[in-house]
Amino acid sequence: MSVLSEKQLKYIEQQLRINREALQTHLYGVERAMDGERYVDIAGTVHSQSDESFAELATALSNASLGREAEALHEIEEALHRLATHSYGYCTDCGKPIALERLRSYPTAKRCRPCQLNKENRYGGKDSTPSL
Ligand SMILES: [Zn+2]
Repeated sequence: MSVLSEKQLKYIEQQLRINREALQTHLYGVERAMDGERYVDIAGTVHSQSDESFAELATALSNASLGREAEALHEIEEALHRLATHSYGYCTDCGKPIALERLRSYPTAKRCRPCQLNKENRYGGKDSTPSL
């Protein structure tokens, strides 16, 4: 039995699905727009060395942003899976219920706050789930 009510779980699931669709639509749209020739398009029209460096930087930043979105999409998929398997709302590390406030702010949170902080301290905050 989850700490969350059926109604709360349904609401979270709905929000996650909406977010997932928005991310999927955006990622798909960007992918089509890029079509593998994005870098050439930007860099191909520049002349000086500094412009070329800027094009490289712009491409890198764009990839980083897409990486974060892909990661967010992955986290949503995981959260939906936990909802489907009735493990949503419980810390994947210690098994204790995750505080409702934390889930409200970060519906994809898979760890309770102490475990999240513990992980960030150990692994240098590589996990993108913010601690609250
Ligand atoms: Zn925990």
